[in-house]
Amino acid sequence: MTPGETPVRQLFVVVERDAARMRMRLVPVQDGGERLPAINGGLGIVPLETLGQGDHRPLTELYHVFRRLDLSGVPSAGEERLASVLAVWEAALARSGIGVRLERRALYGAPLRRPDARGISLRPWDVELTALAAGLRTLVKLDQISPGRVEALRQTAAQRALRVEVVAPAGEPTERGTSVTLLLARDASALVEARDLEALLLVPGGAAGATAAMVRMGELLGYPSCCVERFTRVAEQNDATLAWALLPGVPHAPAPPLTQWLQPGLALLSHSPCDLHCAASIALGKRILGAVEATEPGFAARWRSFAARVQVVDGRGNRMALVVDGRLDSGGTVRAADVLASGVADAEAETDARRLVGRTLSVESGGLVAAGGGWYAPYVADHRGGSSAAP
Ligand SMILES: [Zn+2]
Repeated sequence: MTPGETPVRQLFVVVERDAARMRMRLVPVQDGGERLPAINGGLGIVPLETLGQGDHRPLTELYHVFRRLDLSGVPSAGEERLASVLAVWEAALARSGIGVRLERRALYGAPLRRPDARGISLRPWDVELTALAAGLRTLVKLDQISPGRVEALRQTAAQRALRVEVVAPAGEPTERGTSVTLLLARDASALVEARDLEALLLVPGGAAGATAAMVRMGELLGYPSCCVERFTRVAEQNDATLAWALLPGVPHAPAPPLTQWLQPGLALLSHSPCDLHCAASIALGKRILGAVEATEPGFAARWRSFAARVQVVDGRGNRMALVVDGRLDSGGTVRAADVLASGVADAEAETDARRLVGRTLSVESGGLVAAGGGWYAPYVADHRGGSSAAP
């Protein structure tokens, strides 16, 4: 068995003390895996999302409790091990007045990596500038822009009557100079406000008022308030944590393609919607699609042919858009599989995709597995829904 063939599992739990609640994951420790704040016996715990309005600081004790657990009596492998460790942890937490309950089982996947430029991408490079020009947002923020690209972007902005501001270099200097963050807006006052918010958000360790600044920044960027509110609760703002927090396990009601965000190359939105059925995100997506279609007739149909599918990142990190006949919960058949971007460890992504065609998929622990084994996908978003979502 090579990596990516045998599903690995994780557990989602909710911990609670008084009004403080938090969603967490109990995961296997893997080579090249994620940063885990507490590890014991080959398993780790990682926070996902805060829930409710309580003070969450008293919950930090749960990490110490986890590190000190005596796990000598639990089975050494398998799903049984996860459940047994949870039971031992639960008993220990109870003595500290912290409750924990199992929310769901899930397939485990390595942290998501941003796809490189070689894959299939239908997202127009300037979709955010198009949305800005159409009045669908007040601000565009472009991170990690190399010095070489700054001048080209300045010219594009000038052609479109947009103002640009370069904010203090962020990140490590590279061989080609230091990358910068660019802010673009139609009017100067928005740029001034955004620059001040950005300074507040970059304070190491988090400045007072950082959450309020994030909410206001989200507003300027045109993100729906429900999505920004959820975003501020997610423990880490990286793609994998957002995916575990915001994507429900399958089967879920097929969502319209407009809210697709798992595959960056197909995303029209710049934010991660609070829900695949978020009405504000669907409305925004419709207007963005309409604005792009107006500048590039035929775009919507081409984009929809890839976006209105079952989107997955499989166990090897391959990003695929699957055409699946039938409901996922009753065993759908793969009719087409396109690799949008291959995982770093998999040179055989195209072959894997061809082998999937004609096979039946079934739902397991919130993810998908191919009948007969050899392939599974922990990250899944079903975007085959909502014909009413047409522009
Ligand atoms: Zn929302």
